[in-house]
Amino acid sequence: MDTRFLPKSWRVRGLELPVDADPALLADLVARELGLEAGVMRAFRLVRRSLDARRRGSDHQLRFVHQVEIALDRGFRGGRFARALRSGYVAEAPASESAIPLATHASLRGARVAVLGGGPGGLFAAWMLAHAGLEVELFERGSPVERRGRELVAFHRSRVPNPESNLLYGEGGAGTYSDGKLYTRVEDALELPILEELVACGAPGEILFDARAHVGTDKLHRVLPRLRARLEELGVRFHWNTRVEGLVVAGAAPGARVRALRTSAGETPCDALFLASGHSARDTWNS
Ligand SMILES: Cc1cc2nc3c(=O)[nH]c(=O)nc-3n(C[C@H](O)[C@H](O)[C@H](O)COP(=O)(O)OP(=O)(O)OC[C@H]3O[C@@H](n4cnc5c(N)ncnc54)[C@H](O)[C@@H]3O)c2cc1C
Repeated sequence: MDTRFLPKSWRVRGLELPVDADPALLADLVARELGLEAGVMRAFRLVRRSLDARRRGSDHQLRFVHQVEIALDRGFRGGRFARALRSGYVAEAPASESAIPLATHASLRGARVAVLGGGPGGLFAAWMLAHAGLEVELFERGSPVERRGRELVAFHRSRVPNPESNLLYGEGGAGTYSDGKLYTRVEDALELPILEELVACGAPGEILFDARAHVGTDKLHRVLPRLRARLEELGVRFHWNTRVEGLVVAGAAPGARVRALRTSAGETPCDALFLASGHSARDTWNS
């Protein structure tokens, strides 16, 4: 069965299975609950899974509660399906969830965009901008993750902090030494494409649907170099150990435009700047 989205799809909630049940049973469960004959379901995708540990009377069984998305033959309207729609058990799925939105502002056409910061914000901004066909250069004051790891080991031994590459600064930003808990689940059009990118880079496949998804710091360290390689394939150029110290601006407000970055490695021309400096960057905001 095609597991990608078809143009119109439906979200089905509240599908329960014991935790040890084969997830492959879900498609059959959906078909049974909605009265779908064989072949009507054209696509199926598990979008969310959460654990229900509540007791029901004498029943202590742990269950997973699932949400799935399905696409049906155009025009299909079985009686049970129609009732499920009315009751809210089934609802129309948000459109275009699996696509990376590529539209950019007209002023950015052909622009060289500088991204300040190599944390989750900067990396995925670079990813989107490069997918949209823009020329992207990313500036990160800290080191790539392999070197950053060695620098942290040195810090733990010597207790001499490195102000440029540390637990907060460097590839992956503060996110690298976070847990990689992905609990927010913002239902944004970008949520699924970003999670899919993380999985393509080696994150566990369950993050696509687990309500309490968790990548793990150990895995993040392997995910980041793969993400970097995929960004480089898209044309993103990385400037490691390069601190942005100021902007060269042309014109006067309100029409002023950034023309270049002043960095610890010299001046670099750019037409636009994406600021992803994180919350530990007071010196950057003050400069
Ligand atoms: C201990 C800890 C645990 C956490 N656990 C989780 C978790 O489990 N799940 C979760 O979702 N969130 C967690 N967080 C929060 C998460 O890490 C942040 O929300 C996230 O990193 C923010 O991403 P960002 O890209 O906006 O900023 P940052 O990750 O802070 O990245 C900013 C980057 O910009 C760079 N930078 C700053 N100024 C300059 C400059 N002038 N020039 C060049 N580069 C610059 C920095 O070096 C840094 O790498 C945790 C945070 C911490 C500290």
